[in-house]
Amino acid sequence: MPRTELSQLGEFGLIERIKSKTTHRNPNTLKGIGDDAAVITTSGDFYQLVSTDMLVENIHFDLSFHPLQHLGYKSVAVNVSDIAAMNGIAEQITVSLAISNRFSVEAIDALYQGIFAACEDYSVDLVGGDTTSSTSGLIISITVIGRAKPAQIAYRNGAKKGDILCVTGDLGAAYIGLQILQREKVEFLANPNMQPQLEGKAYTVGRQLKPKARTDIVHELAELQVKPTSMIDISDGLASEVIHLATQSQVGATLFEDKLPIDKETYDIAINDFKLIPSVCAMNGGEDYELLFTIDQKDYEKIKTHDEISFIGYMTEDKEINLVSSGGQKVPITAQGWNHF
Ligand code: ADP
Ligand code: MG
Repeated sequence: MPRTELSQLGEFGLIERIKSKTTHRNPNTLKGIGDDAAVITTSGDFYQLVSTDMLVENIHFDLSFHPLQHLGYKSVAVNVSDIAAMNGIAEQITVSLAISNRFSVEAIDALYQGIFAACEDYSVDLVGGDTTSSTSGLIISITVIGRAKPAQIAYRNGAKKGDILCVTGDLGAAYIGLQILQREKVEFLANPNMQPQLEGKAYTVGRQLKPKARTDIVHELAELQVKPTSMIDISDGLASEVIHLATQSQVGATLFEDKLPIDKETYDIAINDFKLIPSVCAMNGGEDYELLFTIDQKDYEKIKTHDEISFIGYMTEDKEINLVSSGGQKVPITAQGWNHF
């Protein structure tokens, strides 16, 4: 691969390069990159949703196994996921980067290739950002702007007793993917001639490196006329997110271990390679970016056969948050989320 130094382009050259590759897909994006601020029209029928996420090298990602293209995709997907978790539609993002001269123009191009691929998949417009130098690692900070009709917004605090707890897709895969990548890294450092053993692990590794935001579910719930009573995306692990929904809604929750959706590859690798209990990976793993939401019982009929939605429990009047194990034992759910400090 040829290497072009960032200094050859300079900050403005880099911004111009990014701008030239940008496409706008949303009619409310009036002005994107190139002025002091982006200009977005608003409509009285909608509320605006804004969220931001920062990803720091060696805290949130490890470039020794995370290809820049996937990292770009993931940085956008996790932001879009936050808007989806409000039952909204993401439309614009800004991307701010702190980059060291360790990175070449080609490396930044790879990062943006992933960013643009995600913009296409989720139909969002890159409308601005900031570029600065860093003396050490790479920092990516993305802000996403979206919208939703006021009555459609799903807050964390709307769950009622008797509501059914639903989760999309499957859980624990991204955590297992990370365990595999970290193990391969350790083996590679010990013996650089080793080829990574990733056969039969594509799903879990892919879920870690290139997660998807469940914007599809937001659209489908709207079509089925199901408005979640509360919703959150699973970034820190199911346990931690259930606690958020229950405590903010001032109700309790009961979950059933044997209802947790776990993919077969995740299940097998957890047990065979890491001697981990698959349901523990699902509860505490994190980075799945699936949606956890509650619905009123009257809406159950409308989605009960949806093959991407699992019904894992219900909300209760008391404030207890419990997991009922496969053996029928009640275990209190506790979670810290990720603690980087
Ligand atoms: P200012 O000095 O006003 O902050 P900049 O020179 O930083 O302006 O940015 C010029 C334009 O380029 C702005 O529209 C800004 O949003 C955009 N921009 C800067 N960095 C990036 C980036 N990394 N990705 C996308 N757009 C960017
Ligand atoms: Mg700037």
